[in-house]
Amino acid sequence: MYIMSQQEEIINKIAQDKIDFDPGLQLLLEDPEYNFRRLFTTLTNYIFNAIPEKTHYNTETYQNAIKTIPLKPTYTPIVLLKRFPTRISFYRLAELPENEYKKIITSLLWIFKITDTERRNTECKNGCGHFWHELK
Ligand SMILES: [Zn+2]
Repeated sequence: MYIMSQQEEIINKIAQDKIDFDPGLQLLLEDPEYNFRRLFTTLTNYIFNAIPEKTHYNTETYQNAIKTIPLKPTYTPIVLLKRFPTRISFYRLAELPENEYKKIITSLLWIFKITDTERRNTECKNGCGHFWHELK
């Protein structure tokens, strides 16, 4: 069986409201093993997995998620997410400089929380085999 890393467990607990968003985000960013690239890749995979529409990865829930990211809408990552189709905006995020990293992680964590919550309330509602949806 796949064993989640501590980081993955924190991400899923944040999505499932078992850890509040802001303290959860701090836990991820202050982890001594924090690595932007790895966290970025994990969150990107989680988001794409959580969005049911696999052609453009664009749904009402996704749009609602990017509109409600708890950061100033003028920040570059938010502007990119709103301006470009999902996959293209994620490529653009990956190219941003280090002073944007925290804003990118905040944005992606938020998008995952919203899209995963939608998935748990719909597709997963009557039971699913996703072990990460069975956290205590
Ligand atoms: Zn599930």
